[in-house]
Amino acid sequence: CGIVAYIGHREAYPVIIKGLKRLEYRGYDSAGVALLNGGLKVYKKKGKVEELEKLLADVQDLHSHIGIGHTRWATHGEPSDNNAHPHVSGDGKMAIIHNGIIENYAALRQELKNKGHVFQSDTDTEVLIHFIEEIKKQENCSLEEAVRLALNKVIGAFAIVVLSQEDERKLIVARRSSPMVIGVGDGEYFVASDAAPIIEYTNKVIFLNDDEYAVITDHSLDIRTLQDVPTTPYIEQLDIEL
Ligand code: GLU
Repeated sequence: CGIVAYIGHREAYPVIIKGLKRLEYRGYDSAGVALLNGGLKVYKKKGKVEELEKLLADVQDLHSHIGIGHTRWATHGEPSDNNAHPHVSGDGKMAIIHNGIIENYAALRQELKNKGHVFQSDTDTEVLIHFIEEIKKQENCSLEEAVRLALNKVIGAFAIVVLSQEDERKLIVARRSSPMVIGVGDGEYFVASDAAPIIEYTNKVIFLNDDEYAVITDHSLDIRTLQDVPTTPYIEQLDIEL
């Protein structure tokens, strides 16, 4: 339902929590974040963003300059801690947040189970990150190529952000039939499902088009179609009064 991600010089966690709160008006049943802090760390909880914050009040070190956060509106699998996003790959190295529905998830899930994948949740989203992991292993390709190949085989609607502890300074973002906005800062990028979490930091935004994906690092943004044709991003100036 709600997506917020950050890469840059700021602490990611407070940016993400604040952003998730700005998306609360959309309604949701659970919330979660993933950070890279000496490896991938995932925290998620059924209920309000405040519940997630309470859970994290006891965590000593949430320091990270990259992270993803999500508020979920359940479509596949009841609202629960396990079904909350982010979801991780079988090896625990990659995490995904996802808005939308993967319609062919049941067939993919069965295929992946036959290959030995074990699932922790009932969601379509977890199937997608395992599918990306499987393709990455089979093709021995980059994270972004695995995401691209996976999305070409997926039926449905999605706005996703993926991060991996093996690519510590990289976010992969993609969409089809579900909105996604990238905020362009100075040596930092913000990603969200609408502009509300972004506008307090920058008014320069890019609305990702359908069937496009972006590879974002601290100082670079590369947008291509899911057919891998590079596109020239159109940066819009939003004038929104805060
Ligand atoms: N289909 C996914 C799920 O049920 C994502 C739902 C959403 O858009 O929040 O977990």
